[in-house]
Amino acid sequence: MRTLLAAIAVMLAVVLPAQAQTSEELSAQDLRLARIADAMLLANARLCRQTMPVTGMILHSADQYGEDAQALFANSSLAVASVVPGSAADLAGLRANDGIVGISGREVAAMHPNGGDHLREVAFFDLTSLPEESTVDLVVSRAGDRFAVSLAAPRGCRSLVEILVADGPNARSDGRVIQLQYHFAASLTDEQIAVVLAHELAHTVLEHRRRKEAAGIDNDSIMRHVGRNQQVNRQAEVEADRLSVHLLANAGYDPAIVANFWRSAEGEEAGGGSMPSFVYPSQAARAEIAGREIAMYLPLRQGPTWPGHLLELRDRAF
Ligand SMILES: [Zn+2]
Repeated sequence: MRTLLAAIAVMLAVVLPAQAQTSEELSAQDLRLARIADAMLLANARLCRQTMPVTGMILHSADQYGEDAQALFANSSLAVASVVPGSAADLAGLRANDGIVGISGREVAAMHPNGGDHLREVAFFDLTSLPEESTVDLVVSRAGDRFAVSLAAPRGCRSLVEILVADGPNARSDGRVIQLQYHFAASLTDEQIAVVLAHELAHTVLEHRRRKEAAGIDNDSIMRHVGRNQQVNRQAEVEADRLSVHLLANAGYDPAIVANFWRSAEGEEAGGGSMPSFVYPSQAARAEIAGREIAMYLPLRQGPTWPGHLLELRDRAF
């Protein structure tokens, strides 16, 4: 009964509408997130069964914005929002506002988003599904000129990492996209973003979405808080917290930042704020789980690490 009441309380929690951001503010957060995310995706590539070329270009598309932003897309409805310094896209000379009209033989004009996706997601998934041996060949449009650009993009874990502008949870992942809510991301330091990202990426690496679907576990509705759904969902959260310290260590962070984060006010917010949750362990428990994983497997608090004991869970049923 207590479980049910708490679940209803979660459902009734008031969601405050987000304030509007300018496309510049959004681009700045997207670039910051991409800088941190790309380094983590690359550093953990060998832990991931699905990889993609990590280009370092952040794409956006005209269908993401209102009319006031359409001037950004004079070159193409798909354009480079920004470029991560030192990335393959940067080294190839790509710049913000370059239009992308072709990706490895496919015309952008022939790509049609469906469902809730924007053109930018369609282009991204096209790009990430390129076979391992192929290069990323772009046709770029800049100030009326068209030219070909070939990116020497290294491979990293396969995931789109993006800032979410609409209302939604602070951080989420569905196995192919990791999203951080704009205001939440803007409130975090780079290290805190890395912790949140490592947790979400851990869900992807451990293929939780696939494993839950195979076991018939409810991940989305209010019933996720109840019975066997609750047990499995909590188990997945614990697995993700344990793996997150390894992902951070491989990316050059001191994994101890995980415990610090879960003890902080921002960690409280990331775990769902003051709303009761039966899926997540308490903040103190999460800090403890991370501390125990570090003590057992990362006593030197640095990578490289191969967490085989967690990776083997991918082939086990929930
Ligand atoms: Zn999680």
